[in-house]
Amino acid sequence: MIPLHRTLVQPLVNNLRTYSNVAPTTKLFIDGQFVDSKTSNWVDLHNPATNEVVTKVPLTTTKEMEAAVESCKNAYDSWSKTTVLTRQQYMLKLQALIKRDMKKIAANITTEQGKTLADADGDVMRGIQVVEHSCAAGTLLQGESLQNIAKDMDIVSYKCPLGVTAGICPFNFPAMVPLWMFPLALIAGNTMLLKPSERDPGATMLLMELMNEAGVPPGVVNVIHGTHNSVDFICDHEYIKAISFVGSDNAGKYIYERGARNGKRVQSNMGAKNHAIVLPDADKETTLNQIIGASMGAAGQRCMAISVCILVGESQKWIPDLVKKAQELKVNAGHEPGTDLGPVISPLAKQRILDLVEAGIKQGAKCVLDGRNIKVEKYPNGNFVGPTILTDVKVDHDCYKEEIFGPVLSVMSADTLEDALKIINSNPYGNGTAIFTSNGSSARQFVDEVDAGQIGINVPIPVPLPMFSFTGSRGSHHGDLHFYGKQGLNFYTQTKTITSLWRKGQGITKASVSMPVH
Ligand code: NAD
Repeated sequence: MIPLHRTLVQPLVNNLRTYSNVAPTTKLFIDGQFVDSKTSNWVDLHNPATNEVVTKVPLTTTKEMEAAVESCKNAYDSWSKTTVLTRQQYMLKLQALIKRDMKKIAANITTEQGKTLADADGDVMRGIQVVEHSCAAGTLLQGESLQNIAKDMDIVSYKCPLGVTAGICPFNFPAMVPLWMFPLALIAGNTMLLKPSERDPGATMLLMELMNEAGVPPGVVNVIHGTHNSVDFICDHEYIKAISFVGSDNAGKYIYERGARNGKRVQSNMGAKNHAIVLPDADKETTLNQIIGASMGAAGQRCMAISVCILVGESQKWIPDLVKKAQELKVNAGHEPGTDLGPVISPLAKQRILDLVEAGIKQGAKCVLDGRNIKVEKYPNGNFVGPTILTDVKVDHDCYKEEIFGPVLSVMSADTLEDALKIINSNPYGNGTAIFTSNGSSARQFVDEVDAGQIGINVPIPVPLPMFSFTGSRGSHHGDLHFYGKQGLNFYTQTKTITSLWRKGQGITKASVSMPVH
C-alpha cells in the first residue's frame, strides 16, 4: 500500500538535489519587520525545475513564535477598533500594489513552486479577487436588527472580530491561499498569524512587503515558518481563536481535531478526487480540450484538477482524441515560453506519482499515454512528469483511491449517467465535479443527484468567485463555514446580540420572576 501523503520529516531521497550553506534565507515577519531566525534548523527549498537550492527556510523557534503571536495580540487592541472604512482603505492600497507587482510575485511562484508563469499569474489574480471582495465588508459585515420586538424594545446583532486568528497554507497556491485568509480576517477586525508552506513561502513574504508599503500597522499580520512544530504551536496557543487550514487530509484532520480540542474554531480544506462525466451528446472538441486542460494544468497539482474522467456510452470512443490532445502539451521549466506543464514540487512527489501509476497498471489499468520517462533536455534534474492517461481504471485501484496530485488522468467507463453518478457518490471526497453535455435535463439531474460541493456544467474547474464561497464537501472539508464569500466573513466573526429597552414614562413597577417572553 502506498502511503497517503508525505510524512513530515521528509528524507531527501534524491541525489539530484544540491545543498548549500550560502543560499539566501527566508526571513520571519514579526511586528512589521523582516527578521533573521535564530534557529539552527533549516529546510532547503529547491527550484523544482533544477533542484538547486533557492533559499533556506527556518523552522521558527518557540521564542520567535511566541513573539509573533504576542505581536498579533498587541496589534489586535488597536486594529479591532479601527473603522471598517479605514481597513478598506488599506485593502484598496494592497490590491493596487499586488496588481503592480503581480509579475514579480508570479516569477517567485514559478521559481519556488514550478508552475508556468501564466498559471502563476492566475494564482495571484485569484487572490487579488478576494482582496477586492473584502472591500465590500461595509455591507457584508452588517448584522441584523428588528425594531419594537416587544414594547419599546429593539434587538440588533453585530458581527465582531474574534481576536488573533491563524492561517496554515499548502504549497500548490502560494499566493491565492494566503489571500483567501488574511484579507478577510483583517477586514473583519482580526489579526492573523500566517504559516505559509515551508516549500514555497516566497509569495507570502512579497505580500508582506506590500502590506508594509500599504501602511498596514505592524503586528496585524505576522509570518512564521516551519512544519509540525509550528502547526502544533498554532493548534495549542491560548491567544489563537480560529485556524484556517488548506492542505492534505492527514494534516487537515489532525489540525481540525487538535484545534477543536483546544476550543478553537477550525475550517479545514483538504484533498480531492474530482470526477468529470462526459455524455455522448457533449461538444466533443470543447469537452476534450477542457478535460485535458483541467487534468494536466499545474501538472495536476490543483485541488480542483479533474483527475477522473467517466466516459458514458458512445463517448468511450473518444479516448484516442483525448490522448492526442494530451500528447500535444509541452513539458518544460515554468518560466520557459510556451510551457504547458512545469515540474511537480519535489522528487518525492514525483516518485509517489510514478508509484501510483505503476500500481494502477499492476492492478489492471492500461497506460495509453505514459509520461513517466519524460526527458526535458535543458533541465535534466527537474521533477518532470509528462501527461499520463490510464484507462480501464476501477474503483479498487490504488491510483483511483489515492489523490495522485500529478498530471495523470484516470479514465473510467459507465453505461449510463446513473452508473457514473454512483461512482462519484461512492467516492469519499466531495470537492468538485463536472458534467459535459448538451442536454439540460441530464445536467439538471446531475446537479440534483451528485454529492459534491462545487459543480460545473460544461465548466471543468468550477472554483467559485469570491462573492460566493469555496464549498467543497464530505471528505474534502471539515468545519461548517467555508473559505471566502459571506461564509468566510462569518468564519472570522462572532455575533453579539443586543436587546435594549428605552421606555418613556412609566417604568417597571413590580419584580417579575418568570422567564421573560416580552
Ligand atoms: P500538506 O498537508 O502537506 O501541507 C499543508 C500545510 O500543513 C503546510 O503548511 C505544512 O507545513 C503543514 N503540514 C503538513 N503535514 C502536516 C502534518 N502531518 N501535521 C501538521 N502539519 C502538517 O499539503 P500540501 O502538500 O502542501 O498541499 C497539497 C494538498 O492540499 C492536496 O491534498 C490538495 O488537494 C490540498 N489542497 C486543498 C485545497 C482545498 O481547498 N480543498 C486547496 C489547495 C490544496
